[in-house]
Amino acid sequence: MKIALDVDSVLADVIVTWLKVYQQLHSKHLKKADVNTWDFWKRLNLSRQQFEDIFTEAWNKWEQIPPTEEDLAGKVEKLRALGIVDIVTGRSRETIPYVKEWLNQHNIGYEKFVRVPLNSFKGHLAYEVFIDDSPHNVIDAAGKNRYSILYDQPWNQDVSLHPNIFRVRNLSEAVQVIKSLRF
Ligand SMILES: [Mg+2]
Repeated sequence: MKIALDVDSVLADVIVTWLKVYQQLHSKHLKKADVNTWDFWKRLNLSRQQFEDIFTEAWNKWEQIPPTEEDLAGKVEKLRALGIVDIVTGRSRETIPYVKEWLNQHNIGYEKFVRVPLNSFKGHLAYEVFIDDSPHNVIDAAGKNRYSILYDQPWNQDVSLHPNIFRVRNLSEAVQVIKSLRF
């Protein structure tokens, strides 16, 4: 079994750092819970480019990006006991070295590091299971008859029920879900 594991907002709680950079640039304080839609930058009157630029700046500060949960390394190892785990990310090319540094710093083990173009879907890739916080990726993969594990975040609350989509609050729950799947 091959598992595609997302980085942003599944392993790295990058939105925390994104919001700090945003505050420095725009003198506006927002909480993570305020980010309650996928395209929230539109509400902030940012362009897609400005939104991505803040992500790039946040990843430049990769040492400040917190993990999403305690003992990530141990939980990823439990996933790796179930199948081949690749990191699959839609991060921009210039941030990739920082993403790899971050994964290394947090002792996250993985088989391959796969970058998909920014804003492109992952569901066509050869994985049986996707773990992602993006409603678009999860819905796309589920529609291609792949198992989609939706990592619970304020911006993905609207994803409707689907037999291939499983919402989890942490990676321990993801391990339990994968153990229950039939292939
Ligand atoms: Mg993500």
